[in-house]
This record gives sequence, structure tokens and C-alpha cells, in this order.
Amino acid sequence: MATDCLFCKISRGEIPCQQQYQDDQVLAFYDINPKAKTHILIIPHKHIPSIMSLEEGDEKIMGHLIRVAQKIGKDLNLVGYRLQFNVGERGGQVVFHVHLHLMAD
Ligand code: AMP
Ligand code: ZN
Repeated sequence: MATDCLFCKISRGEIPCQQQYQDDQVLAFYDINPKAKTHILIIPHKHIPSIMSLEEGDEKIMGHLIRVAQKIGKDLNLVGYRLQFNVGERGGQVVFHVHLHLMAD
């Protein structure tokens, strides 16, 4: 948990979001500035700043993010989609709480 992190605040319900899915490990919500017809962000509740800061044992939660992406794709009847992690400032990462972009046109 990080007090000043935007996505931690969303995860705690302190900032509203258009939620798509939630379980005890992850939250999925619609991107506020969509770059595709369907643009959803899937985040762990756990504050992990970036792919660069992954630690031993984070494999499980990162795998779960992808499984949730699969579930959302199925639930929304998406015939195809892109999954993307932006990693580090030079990789286009703006919010430093790991998130998986799910985008479909
Ligand atoms: P990234 O560039 O990978 O760090 O992506 C951050 C994403 O978060 C961008 O696509 C933003 O549009 C999105 N975003 C920023 N603030 C919010 C918010 N309050 N609710 C939903 N999405 C947000
Ligand atoms: Zn956070």
C-alpha cells in the first residue's frame, strides 16, 4: 500500500473508477483516457511500482493479471485484443503501480 499512489487509491475505493472486475488480488477498470474502443487496466491490489521492481514471489500475481485479462476478453466477447505493460518512464509508464493494458478495437 502506498499512500500517494493513484492506483492504490483506486484499489482502496478512495478514487472512483468504472470497475469491470474485482477479486481479492486484482482490480480491473476502464481507462479514463481510452486509446482503443475497449481499454481496460488490470492492476494488483498490492503496490508493485513497475515490472522493473518485481520481486521473488510476484510471479503468481502477475500470472493472475493475465488470467483475468483472458476472463475479461471472454466476458466481453472480444475476438482479439492487445495486452501491454509500459515499463519505466522511457517505456511510456506514467503511473508507477503495475498495470496491464487490455485494448481492443
Ligand atoms: P501508463 O502510461 O502505462 O502508466 O498508463 C497509465 C494509464 O492510466 C493511462 O492510459 C491513463 O489514461 C490511465 N489513467 C490515469 N488516471 C486514471 C484514472 N483516474 N482512472 C482510470 N485510468 C486512469
Ligand atoms: Zn500503488
